[in-house]
Amino acid sequence: MIYIHVPFCHRKCTYCAFYSKPVHGADGFGRYEEDLLEEMERRKGEQRHPIKTVYFGGGTPSILPTEVLARIVDGLHRCFDLTALEEMTIEANPEDLAPEYLKSLRQLGFNRISIGVQSLDERMLRLLNRRHTAQQAVEALENARAAGFGNISVDFIYGLPIEFQFSIFNFQLVTHVSLYALTVEPGTALSVQVEKGRVVLPGEDEVVRQYHELHDLLSTNGFVQYEVSNYAKPGFESKHNRRYWDRTPYLGLGPGAHSFDGCRRRWNNPDGSVGEETLTEADAFNELLMTSLRTVRGLPKEMVADGQKEKLHCGMQPFVKCGWIADVDGYYRPTAEGLLHADGIAAALFV
Ligand code: SF4
Repeated sequence: MIYIHVPFCHRKCTYCAFYSKPVHGADGFGRYEEDLLEEMERRKGEQRHPIKTVYFGGGTPSILPTEVLARIVDGLHRCFDLTALEEMTIEANPEDLAPEYLKSLRQLGFNRISIGVQSLDERMLRLLNRRHTAQQAVEALENARAAGFGNISVDFIYGLPIEFQFSIFNFQLVTHVSLYALTVEPGTALSVQVEKGRVVLPGEDEVVRQYHELHDLLSTNGFVQYEVSNYAKPGFESKHNRRYWDRTPYLGLGPGAHSFDGCRRRWNNPDGSVGEETLTEADAFNELLMTSLRTVRGLPKEMVADGQKEKLHCGMQPFVKCGWIADVDGYYRPTAEGLLHADGIAAALFV
């Protein structure tokens, strides 16, 4: 699997703590394309198996003109075996998705699109400094369907000061929903607004209530939760993300991309330097806990090293007793309530 990082955005959203550069005009991309193609050539030997998934994430990959995307996709075909490719995803923002652009994406081989809608309330879109309107977001989803995308994911944020009534949204337009609670990251514009009292966010109980309401709404509309933040119609789970959670090795290309070869993590820093760490047995175990307990499938006991099994079993018992974890069919599986506490459970079990 391959991840391509596109570190550019039209402008900064108030809540965003990701590395991304605001870009105005084609000159803003600098040497991005050349550097990426050169990195692809240099590192192609790191992925010897046929590639099943490719994911363009950001940033805002849909900021790239189709000619640039076409040269990057050409580079992928030149450097890697894509004959087994099942899923090629691009993250996109609604304002970029004109019908012609979407058609080009399909022609380039993208068969999944993940659209950052976030809210359909105009006041909240402005608060978040998003560039699109609610109307543009709905049109983008309709355009994506018309262009032949049968697998469309949408991102929504809850826990905003004004709750959008998602019950009026046409869930038939999408096959996958990612739901994120708004978090206030240090150093963001939102954190300053909250500190100064200009933005007042709902309390934890209200955020949990909104989560349950959205969860029920999605279930009613045929979506099945398969991870804390992810819901899909049957058969439309993200293959790429699932492979991350299964700890499949992947190659990350681009200025802020991470890679994993099964025992080492490596990351590109924006200044061009590279970081690397070899995971200890404890690191690997903790990562397994962190990712698998966020999935509905849970933690397969067979993935736990023999030396860790007994200790883990004892550690799990309080969570089994309180109904957050079910011990079934060779898995420690979080219950619906347990999913809400997945990070806390994992942290309590770290070695
Ligand atoms: S579009 Fe995404 S990556 Fe870019 S600033 Fe907004 S949240 Fe961050």
